[in-house]
Amino acid sequence: MLFRDIPGQEASKKYLEGLISDDRIPHAILFTGPEGNGKLAFAMAFAATLLCENPEGINVCGKCNHCIKSLKYVHPDLHLSFPVSSIEGKKRESTTSNDFLVQFRNFLSEQIYGGIGAWAKFINAENKPININVTECNQIIKSLGLRKYEGRYKIQIIFGAEHLSKEGNRLLKLIEEPTPDTIIILVSDYQEQILNTIKSRCQIFKIPPFLDGEIDKILKSEILDDKQRAEVVRLAAGNLKTALEIHQNEETAYDELLLDIFRAAYTSNISGMLNLADRISSLNKKEMEGFCVYTLHFLKEYMRVVHLKATDAVRLSGKEKSTALKMTRSISVRMAISIANLMEENIKNINRNANKKILWTSTMFGIEEIFAKNKIAS
Ligand SMILES: [Zn+2]
Repeated sequence: MLFRDIPGQEASKKYLEGLISDDRIPHAILFTGPEGNGKLAFAMAFAATLLCENPEGINVCGKCNHCIKSLKYVHPDLHLSFPVSSIEGKKRESTTSNDFLVQFRNFLSEQIYGGIGAWAKFINAENKPININVTECNQIIKSLGLRKYEGRYKIQIIFGAEHLSKEGNRLLKLIEEPTPDTIIILVSDYQEQILNTIKSRCQIFKIPPFLDGEIDKILKSEILDDKQRAEVVRLAAGNLKTALEIHQNEETAYDELLLDIFRAAYTSNISGMLNLADRISSLNKKEMEGFCVYTLHFLKEYMRVVHLKATDAVRLSGKEKSTALKMTRSISVRMAISIANLMEENIKNINRNANKKILWTSTMFGIEEIFAKNKIAS
């Protein structure tokens, strides 16, 4: 990944360029900010620039020996750590990033704007716990303790640093007093979940969301239709990961599912409600979470439709907008808030591995009750 391949984000690029030109590169830096802001791409590009023999400002030469290796993510002084899941035939406690390195390199080539959820999905671990374990931490300490091979720096990237459990405290000494020419780059969407002991020892580098125009530029080669592209850009709200997901999953059709749920619950169609509960229970954990997130997004925008009366500034597709406008006759803001609360609870329960069928059956009846209690007198 090269900086010039990351669209826009000029202020963040300038900041990193300043660190390099003023020789103020911190030993430990945390790349953070909202999901879908390109932080992993930034981390990989920064590492490549630091390793390049003849960088031009923030950009690598792309030709030297180091570039050839670091741009393929195989540079011996570039160490990659990230959360992993169990694999068959290997003890969980001895399973580390090394076992997933080939997949991670593919992930970097294909989905560098994806977050930790996209990575879990990439290794079919969306329903399994993932973490950075103690063996991994020990390996990091060991590999950074070695002499650097050929580069100017030894660079350790830790993607998904919020998945460092208490064992991560083993890294404190390393972060505080690193071996010479060592740079540790942490990458996380969830800064608040990182161990405080670690976070307080890092320089925090917050990258803002992408601008709409920047996302538009990225999607230009993939979505040729201007109108369709503008729609995706608007829905993404600065999150490049979401933009790519909307584009890739256009047929996921959560809007239809949600509408079916509202219809069944509003008319107290019990068999319909139970069928829908079955349908959602058959989704995997990440998909269920995706559905809840979609519902929250829809309801948030729905409330804006109710308040604004005009729908121009609302982040909904044309089809969703017309659904929302029709809904205003029967679904009040109070109902929408209650349903949103229910979905927020569901996200927590999904992550606590609640029984899917019970969860969604009770959700269906919960929505039905919200409608029944608050029906707008017509
Ligand atoms: Zn180079």
